[in-house]
Amino acid sequence: MASQAAEGVVEGGRPALLDVLRPTSTDEVQRMVIAARDARQAIYPVSTGLNWGYGGADPVRPGARLMDLSGMRAIREKITPLNPVAVIEPGVTQADLHQHLQRHCPSLMFNVTGSAAATSIIGNALDRGVGYLGPRREDLFGLEVVTGAGQLIHTGFRRLGVDSPLRHCHPYGLGPMLDGLFFQSNFGVVTSACFKLLPRPPRQVAVSLALRSQERLGEFVDVLAALKRERLMDSVTHIGNKARTQASLQYGMNSYLQTECGLSGRQLELAVQRATARVAPHEWTSLGGVAGTARQVDAALAEVRARVGGLARMTTVDDRKLALGHAVLHALRFLPWARANAAAIAAIKPLHGLAAGIPTDAAVDNLLWKFGRTDLSAQQLAQSSSGVLFISPALPMDGKFVAMFVKKMIETAREHQHTLYLTLNIEMANTLVAVSNLLFDRSDPVAVASAQRCADALYGLIREHRLEVYRARTDMMASITEVSAEYWETVRELKRVLDPMGIISPGRYGTS
Ligand SMILES: Cc1cc2nc3c(=O)[nH]c(=O)nc-3n(C[C@H](O)[C@H](O)[C@H](O)COP(=O)(O)OP(=O)(O)OC[C@H]3O[C@@H](n4cnc5c(N)ncnc54)[C@H](O)[C@@H]3O)c2cc1C
Repeated sequence: MASQAAEGVVEGGRPALLDVLRPTSTDEVQRMVIAARDARQAIYPVSTGLNWGYGGADPVRPGARLMDLSGMRAIREKITPLNPVAVIEPGVTQADLHQHLQRHCPSLMFNVTGSAAATSIIGNALDRGVGYLGPRREDLFGLEVVTGAGQLIHTGFRRLGVDSPLRHCHPYGLGPMLDGLFFQSNFGVVTSACFKLLPRPPRQVAVSLALRSQERLGEFVDVLAALKRERLMDSVTHIGNKARTQASLQYGMNSYLQTECGLSGRQLELAVQRATARVAPHEWTSLGGVAGTARQVDAALAEVRARVGGLARMTTVDDRKLALGHAVLHALRFLPWARANAAAIAAIKPLHGLAAGIPTDAAVDNLLWKFGRTDLSAQQLAQSSSGVLFISPALPMDGKFVAMFVKKMIETAREHQHTLYLTLNIEMANTLVAVSNLLFDRSDPVAVASAQRCADALYGLIREHRLEVYRARTDMMASITEVSAEYWETVRELKRVLDPMGIISPGRYGTS
């Protein structure tokens, strides 16, 4: 279970790349793949290459040519509310699609992630990333792919061709579903895909629940899981520990209190503490959402309140409440309690926007602030010394098990003198993911080695319990094939068919 521990794989460096290919069309991709196949030259395709915390744009093995697809940025067909699907190329970012919808089809939105606005949709979905409303895997279908053999294929009913009215609407097609082969794999280069859009609901309310006693985490998970299963709270519910919640809000709170209230030093510190206590008074706080017509939302909120009972303090927030709260509290910001609440609202606002499909740089800006580089844009995170390692196990939706395992993860991190930033993401009806990360100073080799040791220990713990991560970092790829030998042998056989020379991203997700 050794990790490469190279600085590059920790966060966005680019070790041992031969050069960068920048195709701008599917034809060009196909020509480049055929040339690479004939020369037996490895290529590593990325969409926008901002896979921070999972290895950035680093290839698993040195000696590859990076294929940077960020120049393929077209939204190919007209989007209409009657067929809410966008046919996008890999370089289309969250910001691009959001702006496009605002301009051409404002009644539609999409499932945005908490990563930066400049991150891709296709690359994120192919690595099975997760948005505010659920796993992106569910949103992508009808792939156009250049396989490692150099063949251009279309999955689902996209294979029926551009004249078929079914090409962009039916996600399954007929026969075996090949789509799944291209997620978390290295069989081809995806050059465009259909991406599901969503009608904007008439009303959206964010629901935050602050668990009163951390001893009752298991019970809390079970209550929230039932709300998900019964579709009363349909978005992903994020249950964050205090370290995570604080980390997500610090920059927003500090900048409001500094720029709008002129605070500094001890006064600033106290005001931030007060604002944080308002949002996260206890160890665990959840954030989820309810959407629908006004009556549906009111009924769902009443049900949530009844189920949660005395277990947690419930706060609801919507756009109107945020705007009104900000207007009143901002005017009263000369009073300490008012400015603490106004600072909390300023920090929450961009996160609340995720529910409405508005991408934000807030999470990355928090990192840049922590590492003293607010001069950089979110997209430039890799230029800062911010080190991030994600280690995120999938867990069964069983509150008792989750509470036991999470306690062990936090203890393991503590033994390595690390804080674990943790969110329990209730994404699906029967399973959740503990998205956890370590933060460290990447410019300090001792800190890098310590974080790698801690990440390895956490992975050991995951394995001991016969669990697995839901998504692997570049430096973990060799380890993930240590279990289930027959499974990975079948994957290798598929690789031989789709990429016989093994030129696409060698070593990624189990195959050479
Ligand atoms: C503060 C912070 C918050 C984050 N929040 C989230 C979050 O909410 N949800 C989440 O999922 N992630 C999150 N991330 C992780 C990461 O930033 C995002 O997942 C991001 O979208 C991935 O980068 P990308 O879109 O540029 O994908 P890429 O880096 O382009 O792609 C990821 C991988 O997929 C493969 N790939 C990409 N494109 C292609 C293609 N066209 N053909 C074949 N293979 C391809 C490559 O192997 C590539 O390495 C977060 C990270 C940080 C630091």
